[in-house]
Amino acid sequence: MTGNEGNRGTAATGSTGGYIGRFAPSPTGPLHAGSLVAAMASYLDARAHHGQWRVRIEDVDEARTVPGAAESILQTLALLGMQPNGEVIWQSRRGEAYAAAFAHLQAHVYPCGCSRREIADSNAGVVPGGLSAAVSAGMPSVYPGICRHGMPPGRSARAWRLRVPASDAPDELIGFQDRACGWQEQHLADEAGDFVLKRADGFWAYQLAVVVDDAAQGITDVVRGKDLLDSTPRQIYLQRLLGIPTPRYLHTPLVRNAAGEKLSKQTGAAPLDLSRPGLMLRQAAAALGLQVERDPAVPAFWEKAIPLWAARFSR
Ligand SMILES: [Zn+2]
Repeated sequence: MTGNEGNRGTAATGSTGGYIGRFAPSPTGPLHAGSLVAAMASYLDARAHHGQWRVRIEDVDEARTVPGAAESILQTLALLGMQPNGEVIWQSRRGEAYAAAFAHLQAHVYPCGCSRREIADSNAGVVPGGLSAAVSAGMPSVYPGICRHGMPPGRSARAWRLRVPASDAPDELIGFQDRACGWQEQHLADEAGDFVLKRADGFWAYQLAVVVDDAAQGITDVVRGKDLLDSTPRQIYLQRLLGIPTPRYLHTPLVRNAAGEKLSKQTGAAPLDLSRPGLMLRQAAAALGLQVERDPAVPAFWEKAIPLWAARFSR
């Protein structure tokens, strides 16, 4: 499929050979309106760059996994014309890779005996809305460093944290160019703090798993929702410590419905009507700002949508 499209497009050509993108759903339920938009953005970008599109099931938090959800998501993607290149990988089967990375980071890691509430930031990457949502929910966004120089007496290790550089260190400010949002910067010490790599419940943290998996899958381009924008500097910092490449990033704008409301748990979690795939695809495209007329058949939809995306995000 990639080969056939190799010389067809004109908008998205250039030195983009070797593009590998990915969609990484959490199997907490079937694909819904919001996750379809995320899948579509990553798929369109891969196709517009004549690249590969990989799928990874982000079931590292096994407590949130709904049995059968991953299989349902993969079936729905296929029904909507999105076939992954290469093998689908499952985070729940990759504990050895995360343990190896964790061992590599040993010099930067310390045990933390703080309470569950104090470690809520370890979930920030998988809570919709990320850190900002954690803050508005009253959860601490920056770990105050209680165990940084040793746990207080009487505490035992619950989680394991990565020490970020001090606020006056030169490598504390992480910057990157986002293809949609422009130049981004974050002060790790003040805005992220020492973050969890291994959680109190024994699961590997999202931030570590994502970085290890993106490298293992050879991902060159991450296209995902803007709710993960503020996780990106932590992931870049981990990439640097692990000596692995930093991919390019494109965080898609927050999706709004016809009433101008953000696609959220309430509006974005609407189930897909799979008896009308053309309508579902057209609506998801509209949420990305791509106007595809009427409700085309699935192959016709992609033929129309790929050049529209390429015209917007060709670099
Ligand atoms: Zn602590």
